[in-house]
Amino acid sequence: MTDDWKRRTKLIHAGTKRSGWGEMAEAIFLTQGFAYDSAEQAEARFIQAGEDEFIYARYGNPTVRMFEDRISAAEGTEAAFATASGMAAVSGALTSMLRAGDHVVSSRALFGSCLYILEEVLGRFGVEVSFVDGTDLDQWRAAMRPDTKAVFLESVSNPALEVIDIRSVAEIAHAVGATVVVDNVFATPVFSRAVEQGADVIVYSATKHIDGQGRALGGVICGTEDFIRKTAEPYMKHTGGSMSPFNAWIMLNGMQTLDLRCRAMADSALEVAQALEGHVALSRVRYPGLASHPQHDLAMAQMGSGGTVVTFDIADGKEAAFRFMNALKIVTISNNLGDARSIATHPATTTHHRLPAAQKAELGITPGLIRLSVGLEDTGDLIADLQQALARV
Ligand SMILES: *Cc1c(COP(=O)(O)O)cnc(C)c1O
Repeated sequence: MTDDWKRRTKLIHAGTKRSGWGEMAEAIFLTQGFAYDSAEQAEARFIQAGEDEFIYARYGNPTVRMFEDRISAAEGTEAAFATASGMAAVSGALTSMLRAGDHVVSSRALFGSCLYILEEVLGRFGVEVSFVDGTDLDQWRAAMRPDTKAVFLESVSNPALEVIDIRSVAEIAHAVGATVVVDNVFATPVFSRAVEQGADVIVYSATKHIDGQGRALGGVICGTEDFIRKTAEPYMKHTGGSMSPFNAWIMLNGMQTLDLRCRAMADSALEVAQALEGHVALSRVRYPGLASHPQHDLAMAQMGSGGTVVTFDIADGKEAAFRFMNALKIVTISNNLGDARSIATHPATTTHHRLPAAQKAELGITPGLIRLSVGLEDTGDLIADLQQALARV
């Protein structure tokens, strides 16, 4: 039944489990543990827990399971494991499958914390990581080795908005038997077609669009039943990065409006990008939905949308960028994205401040770069706010 549903239907109904009370909204099972009818039942459950049998909330919980079943149904994967944050999902997906001596190929354009995992953490445990320009397929091909166990990429990079060709990278990776791990936050579960494009493991920070109102941290690892049950879950449940039932409940509610929100935000983002493109104060406007974006055709083929984030470069640099941000009246200065409230971020001094200048330059993180997460406000109001602030630089 569920398999025939379209994604919009799955985002609302998939995974719903009702207790004997028949509650309409998903129940929050705010419990750390579960009582057994007998010692024999406890023993049996530790040997092999059944589908709707739980042991301990770090291993699984009914509210969390609803979230996992709903997101994996929407994403088109066999299974999912919910995590405490997006970074718990990224680090868990990678460290659960890798061991000393393995090789990983990763796109260079990554969110700061993802870069930390790949650059700092994995190396400490004897995993070698080669970085490539994710948009250059020849570099992916050249970096691949017989001992390459995984490739990692942000399908749309944060904040450079480079779009990476999942299908082609997956073909290159699968030729040497490597697992393709895609951080799909910017694509959102609404525009994602990562499974059909060849991704093996898809991770989300649920903190972003899935919550959508900036309330809670969460993440999820989506993959095959085999990968989730035998690799990701044992690692996550023993290392402690599981999602809390309360946050799962927030994410379940977020998913019911996810499709509408992401489409409305992406429509607005396109209008904002079009309105800003060519503005005298800006040296560049970048949005995958604009024909001027270097991977515009790929973005349309891969996601059918440019997504919900627009970036632009204030030509006069950091002081002008700060004047612009400080003059905003509707758009809020913060560092989340995918929120109903539009958010402006200055990556060079916040999310990516840790990077050395040369690396910032390489990733297109200029002193004037602004990352704008377009929210659900009236598009005309947003454009007017951005324009009045640009007039102040
Ligand atoms: C925010 C983000 C993360 C991390 O998610 P948290 O929920 O903050 O841990 C990972 N990858 C990308 C691309 C992100 O934007």
